[in-house]
Amino acid sequence: MACLVRPLIEFQQEDRRHPPDILQPAILELLAASISATNLALVHICWIAFKEAIGNHPEIVPIESELTQYNNAALCRGTSFGHLLAPVRVCQDSYCPNYRDSGDIMTLKEPMSHKATLHTLGNGSFPVYTTSLYCRGVPHHIQVAQHFFVESPLLELFANGMVFGWLSSSNWARMYNAALSRMNSHIANIKIAELGCSKDENTEKCRSGKRKVVAQTGTEPQR
Ligand SMILES: [Zn+2]
Repeated sequence: MACLVRPLIEFQQEDRRHPPDILQPAILELLAASISATNLALVHICWIAFKEAIGNHPEIVPIESELTQYNNAALCRGTSFGHLLAPVRVCQDSYCPNYRDSGDIMTLKEPMSHKATLHTLGNGSFPVYTTSLYCRGVPHHIQVAQHFFVESPLLELFANGMVFGWLSSSNWARMYNAALSRMNSHIANIKIAELGCSKDENTEKCRSGKRKVVAQTGTEPQR
């Protein structure tokens, strides 16, 4: 039974290079319930004695009665045989501060679990729990398309412009192209402002003077 619960023990450990000396209370209760033991202190002593052997034991495939016995204790405690745990415990984005080469030290947080059903070829369908993790690291650059990256502070500006200014994505794109996409846009755009039109509307219509915009106020808002 300890071998069946081992993946969950390792998953919940921040540093999984060594088995824990003290099991989390929920894990200890699960282990005790799976062997119908009521003496938690005794189970704890057994864990201390056998934790290295359990950690090094090859993966076992339980027979049906063992699986049922384990799930009878596990399903009511938010886990199951075959619990689908997040395949990685560290961020996979190399730009993120939570990125690591190895998964030994967990950097992902906020585990979220829910019930599911696993359909298999050889063992039919059975209930499982699944747990995902979340990264709260903030990468400095976000890849928005295969060949395009956007700096995080710029995305924050876009988001706040949408929330507080009701700016659409297309208007943000126009504003960015006109005012931010080049260095020293505030200088380069003076000629455009004098013409009374935005940079991307520097057309015959603008030049003909049909649209008037005061130079100091910048460009006419897009609609
Ligand atoms: Zn991350």
